[in-house]
Amino acid sequence: MSLSFNNTQIAFAHLSNMQLRKSFYLFKVMNNNHLVSVGTRLTNMALAFRLPVSPFIRPTFFDHFCGGETLEDSKDNIAALGKYNVKTLLDYSVEGKETDTDFDHSLQQLLAGVAFAKNNPYVPVVVAKITGMARFSLLEQYHAGETLQPKQQKQWTRLRERLHTLCKAAQQANIILYFDAEESWIQIALDDLISEMMRTYNREKAIVYNTVQLYRHDRLAYLKAAHRTAQKEGYLLGVKLVRGAYMEKERQRAQDKGYPSPIQPDKAASDHDFDAALSYCIDHIEDIAFCCASHNEVSNLYLCELMQNHNIPAQHPHVWFAQLYGMSDNLSFNLAHEGYNVGKYLPYGPLRDVMPYLIRRAQENTSVAGQMSRQLQLFQKEMIRRGLKY
Ligand SMILES: Cc1cc2nc3c(=O)[nH]c(=O)nc-3n(C[C@H](O)[C@H](O)[C@H](O)COP(=O)(O)OP(=O)(O)OC[C@H]3O[C@@H](n4cnc5c(N)ncnc54)[C@H](O)[C@@H]3O)c2cc1C
Repeated sequence: MSLSFNNTQIAFAHLSNMQLRKSFYLFKVMNNNHLVSVGTRLTNMALAFRLPVSPFIRPTFFDHFCGGETLEDSKDNIAALGKYNVKTLLDYSVEGKETDTDFDHSLQQLLAGVAFAKNNPYVPVVVAKITGMARFSLLEQYHAGETLQPKQQKQWTRLRERLHTLCKAAQQANIILYFDAEESWIQIALDDLISEMMRTYNREKAIVYNTVQLYRHDRLAYLKAAHRTAQKEGYLLGVKLVRGAYMEKERQRAQDKGYPSPIQPDKAASDHDFDAALSYCIDHIEDIAFCCASHNEVSNLYLCELMQNHNIPAQHPHVWFAQLYGMSDNLSFNLAHEGYNVGKYLPYGPLRDVMPYLIRRAQENTSVAGQMSRQLQLFQKEMIRRGLKY
């Protein structure tokens, strides 16, 4: 296999010298734990007092990790990725809303995303968060098996209607929908809703994908059970595989409330189940369509090897790779160069609304024990290759 994730020439061909230099210095700042922690506190304070944050955030973090404030704004970035055969997975990244007006607005935004994708050959997928379309407490009650009161029953029905509207529009436009996974204490609600959508819209093609978090010790078993159900009921299973983003929060809640943590005992166990899930999906490629959503080089390489060993072509429509915009370009662009189906999660939305997302990215890219992060090393390597001073 000629694939290498160390080829920085391919990884950063889409960046001009100036953009490369800018990315290098941004990651250098993020590599400093102290700066990130002070910066996060200052930014949160500025947001709370409604002070302007955009003069600093827009040309730096926002430009690096987001497509734009609107779909229209994001067009150039989408085309720049598309030029290298890296597709865009549109992620309307607004979080923490609580009213019906907000939920209807989110639905409208998602429908606009589907319509935009239909007319843009570089956008095969729209990403949705169910918490953007319903109250968290409603999902929590359903998950806990509590009886819904008439008012909540009505909210539940409205949520199902919103989802049907979205999935039907996606099916008509032939656009795929990824539903993100969030906290474990709402997941049964998400699983039931998304399975209902798959049962309706995944008969001919996998339009709807659920997300399976393999940092949970019970989700490999869930993946297999969901596959058996799909087989029995005659629809395609769509899944996005991730390790999972809420580990500390999950462990803390389990400890505070005194129940066993849903998280794997250690990183090796998460890695094991993630790779086992890849292998399971490859073994059932006829009736599972899946996306390996990961920045882990070993897992990405493992999936390429599995495909090669099973004679599955790189362009098989049931296998996708995905990374976040602004991260792990060495994976995305090298995979695309070898002909694999690759997409970037491209968040967009008003700057203030995407701030929680940007703060998570800054925290995720801090260094471990003072080492230079992998991203920073790669930017540096490419600057040296281009003969740029740093
Ligand atoms: C395109 C895309 C979509 C995503 N969608 C979602 C989503 O819908 N829901 C969601 O939750 N996350 C989502 N994520 C985030 C994803 O879960 C994190 O980026 C991911 O966990 C980081 O892991 P990795 O696979 O990149 O590899 P690595 O960097 O190798 O793994 C890090 C991960 O391993 C796990 N881990 C670390 N230490 C331990 C430990 N001690 N014990 C057990 N497990 C451990 C954690 O999940 C941690 O995040 C998405 C990521 C991408 C790229």
